[in-house]
Amino acid sequence: MAKSSGNESMKKDAVFIFSEDQLGYKFSDTHPFNQKRLTLTVDLLRELNALSSLDIVAPRTATDEELSLAHDPHYIEIVKKASLETAETSIYESYGIGTEDTPIFPHMHEASASLVGGTLTAVDYVMEGKSSHALNLGGGLHHGFKGRASGFCVYNDSSVAIKYLQQKYNARVLYIDTDAHHGDGVQWSFYDDPNVCTISLHETGRYLFPGTGNITERGSGEGYGTSFNFPMDAFTEDDSFLEIYRTAFREIIDSFKPDVILSQNGADAHYFDPLTHLYGTMKIYQEIPKLAHELAHEYCDGKWIAVGGGGYDIWRVVPRAWSLLWLEMNNIKAPEGELPKNWLNRWTKEAPIPFIPTWMDPNPLYEPIPRKAEITEKNKQMLDKALLLLRQQQSYKNHQQH
Ligand SMILES: [Zn+2]
Repeated sequence: MAKSSGNESMKKDAVFIFSEDQLGYKFSDTHPFNQKRLTLTVDLLRELNALSSLDIVAPRTATDEELSLAHDPHYIEIVKKASLETAETSIYESYGIGTEDTPIFPHMHEASASLVGGTLTAVDYVMEGKSSHALNLGGGLHHGFKGRASGFCVYNDSSVAIKYLQQKYNARVLYIDTDAHHGDGVQWSFYDDPNVCTISLHETGRYLFPGTGNITERGSGEGYGTSFNFPMDAFTEDDSFLEIYRTAFREIIDSFKPDVILSQNGADAHYFDPLTHLYGTMKIYQEIPKLAHELAHEYCDGKWIAVGGGGYDIWRVVPRAWSLLWLEMNNIKAPEGELPKNWLNRWTKEAPIPFIPTWMDPNPLYEPIPRKAEITEKNKQMLDKALLLLRQQQSYKNHQQH
C-alpha cells in the first residue's frame, strides 16, 4: 500500500465538534438539561487520550437563512427578541418559550444558533470528504418545531441539517433517534418527504412527553412509509431494546438505501435517568453506535453524522455513554474495567451522587423485573406491527422481480 505523502491531507475517521460556547445553552442552574455533561465527556475522553485538539473543530453559527430552512422567519425573530429583553414571558408562551420546560435565558438565540451551526459544521466535514464521521454532542434538539420551541429545544439542529443536506448535497437521509423521547420535531419536518426516512425508538408516549410516536405514524402523501416509530413499554431492558434497534435499523436501511446517516444519541434510556422509565444499561450505549458505524460503511460509504440529545443523569450515565460513541467512531475498542482515576478524583467532590467507577454497569444493576417476559413479548409484537408495511412492500418487490 502506498504511504500517503506528508503534504497530502489524510481523511480523518472522525471530527469532534466542540467549543466552550456550546455550554452557553443553559436555561438555569436547576434545569435538568445541563451542558456540564459536555465538559464531563470531553474531560473523560482527554483523560483516556482519545481526544486531542487536532480532533476538535469549533462549531460555526447557523445563519438566519439556514435556520429558516426548518423554522418560520417570524419564530426566529421571536426567539431573538426574547433573548434581548426581560419581557413578559406570557407573550412568548404561544411559541413554546418562556415556559417551565423551555425558559428564556440570555443570548438564547445565539446559543441555539451555535448548536445548529455545530451540526451544519459536522455535515460539511462529512459531505466534503474531510472526515468519514462527525460528532456534535451539542446537537440533537429533536423536539424543536417549525414555529415553536418544545421540550428544552429552541431550534431543531437535525431538521435544519437534513434540509441543508438535501439542498446543498442533494442527499437522501436516514435519521435514527434512540433518545427515550419520541423524535417528534424531526419526524413532522419530513413527514411527507419520501427522501428522508425517520426512525425513532422511544418509551411509549402513553405516559411520557411528547405523547406521540405511535407505530401508526408512518408518514403522509409521498412520504407515506418513510416514518417509523418503535414505542417501547416502560421498564424495557437491554436485550429487548437492542432486538428492536437491530432488526428495525437493518431492515429499514436495506430498503431505504440512504446516502448518509444522521443519528441522534440521547442518553436518557438508561435505568438511572430521572426523566424516563426505560431500564437500559451501559450495554445499549456500547451497541447503538456499533451498528450505526457498521451500516454507515455498508450503505453510505462511511458517511455518518452523530448528534447528542437528552440525557439527564449527567454524572453517572452521559459521560460514559457519549465517550463510547466517540470511541466507536474512531475504531477504538471500548475500554474495560475502571474509569480513569484522575477523572473520578477530579469530579467526585462536585458530583451529588457516587459515580459508577467502571465503564460497564455492575450486573445486575437493579432488582429483576417480574414482568420481563410480558414486556419483551409486547415489544416483539410492536416491532412486527411497526415493520409489517415495510415487509409487505419488500415481499411485493421481490415477487415482482422473480
Ligand atoms: Zn429524551
